[in-house]
Order: sequence, then structure tokens, then C-alpha cells
Amino acid sequence: MNRVLVTGGAGFLGSHLCERLLNEGNDVICLDNLFTGSKDNIRHLMGNSYFEFIRHDITEPIYVEVDQIYNLACPASPVHYQHNPIKTAKTSVYGALNTLGLAKRTGARILQASTSEVYGDPEVHPQPESYRGCVNPIGIRACYDEGKRMAETLFFDYYRMHQVEIKVMRIFNTYGPRMNPNDGRVVSNFIVQALKGQNITIYGDGKQTRSFCYVDDLINGMIKLMNSEKDFTGPVNIGNPGEFTMLELAQKIIELTGSNSQIVYEPLPSDDPMQRKPVIDLAKEKLGWQPTVQLEEGLLKTIDYFKRIL
Ligand code: NAD
Ligand code: UDP
Repeated sequence: MNRVLVTGGAGFLGSHLCERLLNEGNDVICLDNLFTGSKDNIRHLMGNSYFEFIRHDITEPIYVEVDQIYNLACPASPVHYQHNPIKTAKTSVYGALNTLGLAKRTGARILQASTSEVYGDPEVHPQPESYRGCVNPIGIRACYDEGKRMAETLFFDYYRMHQVEIKVMRIFNTYGPRMNPNDGRVVSNFIVQALKGQNITIYGDGKQTRSFCYVDDLINGMIKLMNSEKDFTGPVNIGNPGEFTMLELAQKIIELTGSNSQIVYEPLPSDDPMQRKPVIDLAKEKLGWQPTVQLEEGLLKTIDYFKRIL
């Protein structure tokens, strides 16, 4: 049995990860400051004697004895990470330093939840891991993008200097049950708007693209990466290469919910990437991983979830 620490474990992805790790027979410590996460996401795990919740801010050191660390603590939606950008940068950078320090002391293997945002507004399409990105270092997304880039740097420096066993995963837009209905991300926004009969807010002309991965596929990739061969550090893209414009997404959600909502256009936030699609050849080769859930199937499950909680 592995003792596993999941930082950000009460969030959207973290709660699914904790659940999977418990089902696979691990002893799980979920650490979270509940900024964007919620006890509701992990309430069903609380009675399990192999599950512990610690309310803690990862910008402060943490002393626990563990075999594996998944570092997910960080607000992920633009609305939330821009709320207090200095705190977001601290969470990424101090959070990486504190979890890497813990990995060094305990000899634990550590996985970083990095992001496709390290590619910024990419000039290379689709994006392979070798692409170094196009990030505006002084823009409103930089607290998150540059914070995550610095975290990757720290991971590789701990690997080279201290031989810490690192795994760096670049996560592309992921959706599914337990997304926060108020976090402003496109899938949750459109579904909530459609179910409430409100206008569907497309930012810009709706021609920008994203590639959406269903949460179960993402968690499979994350666990495969953590347990991959020792010398495979990544970075590795995990995402679904199916690419859609925001207008196509809005139309699909209107169709699947049977909503009467109208599409309205609002200004595009600055530095909003125009296109995003992962190259996943490395994940296929090294992890034997590829997504299996198509957009429509995943959206139907997500719509069911939002119907229940709204
Ligand atoms: P989320 O906001 O639901 O989860 C983040 C969790 O971290 C929350 O529970 C929050 O309370 C916690 N947290 C934030 N700051 C903290 C701090 N200082 N100390 C302790 N806990 C803190 O978001 P998510 O979608 O589950 O994302 C999880 C991770 O995956 C994040 O690191 C994010 O950057 C990364 N990621 C997610 C996506 C995606 O599409 N969901 C894409 C790329 C990367
Ligand atoms: N978006 C939109 N309407 C919304 C929320 C988001 O058109 O109500 C757009 C946003 O401008 C971006 C895309 O959807 O182009 C994805 O946004 P999200 O915040 O989900 O993720 P990210 O931009 O970080 O990929």
C-alpha cells in the first residue's frame, strides 16, 4: 500500500484522483486550503479510514511521511487565478518548492500538474512537448502561466541536483462532474447557462479553439504517468486532440440540453489563446495512454451532474 499525498485534493481533478487512489488500495492524504475546492467534493470519502483531509496552504511547508505526491494545488480557472494573481504565483512557486522539499526528504516520487498554458498563445499547432511556448510575461494570465513554467523549472532542477523522481504532466482543458459551477470556465459556464435558460456568453468571435478531455481519461493518464518507468520524467501532454471552436461547443451544449438559450458575444479577455490542441504521441508511446471518451459522451455526463446540483 502506498501513502499518497494529493495537494489540491478537494478540487475538481483532485477529488477524482483521491477517489481513484482509494479504490486502488492506497492510503490517501488530501491537502487543500479550500480556496476553489470544497468539502462537498470529498464528503463521500470522509468515512474511509484510509482517507485523511488536511486543511493547509501549500505556500507553507508540510511535514508528512509519504511514498508519492501529486501536486495539484493551484486555482485553475482564469477567473479564480486572476482574483489574487500574487497569491497564484506564490501557490505555484512556493507550492512546488515545498512539495519538492518534501519529496527530497522522504524519497517520494512527485508529479506536477502542469498545464497547456505553458505554451501560451501558441504559434505552433498542434503543440508537441518540444515547443517552448509564447507567453506574455506581463499579461493578466502570466501569474498562472509563468508560475507553472517556474514550477516546471524547479522540478527539473530538483531532478538534476537531488535526483528527485519527478513526473511533469501538461494537462489540456479537462471537464466533467465536480467542476465548480462558478469558476468561469467555458464548459461549466455554457452548461449552467443552458440549463438555466440564460444567454450563452461567447467571448470574442467564438472561432478560438480548445481540445477538451473528459476527467476519467485525464485521471487514467495521471496515474499511468506516476507509475511509469523511473527515468521517464516528461513533460508529457495529456489531453484529447479533438479540437472544437467555442461556437461549436456552445451549439453542441444547446443541442444536448435542449435549451432555448441564445448565443451572445462578449469581449475577448486579453491574451486569450486562439488555438490549442495537444500532440499526444509521447503519452501513447511511453504510457500506452490515449483518451477514450468522446466530447458528446463526456458532455452528457457533465450535464447530468449540473442538473443534479443546480
Ligand atoms: P480546482 O480549482 O478545482 O482545484 C485546485 C485545488 O487547489 C482546489 O481545491 C483549491 O482549493 C486548491 N488550492 C488552491 N490554492 C491552494 C493553496 N495555496 N494551498 C492548498 N490548496 C490550494 O482546479 P482543477 O481543475 O482541479 O485543477 C487542478 C490542477 O490541475 C491545478 O494545478 C491546475 O493548474 C491543473 N490543470 C487543470 C486543468 C483543467 O482543465 N482542469 C488544465 C491544466 C492544468
Ligand atoms: N469562454 C467563452 N465564454 C465563457 C467562458 C470562456 O467564450 O463563458 C472562452 C474563453 O475566452 C476561452 C475558452 O472559452 O477562449 C476557454 O476558456 P476557459 O476559461 O475554459 O479555459 P482557458 O482559456 O484557460 O483554456
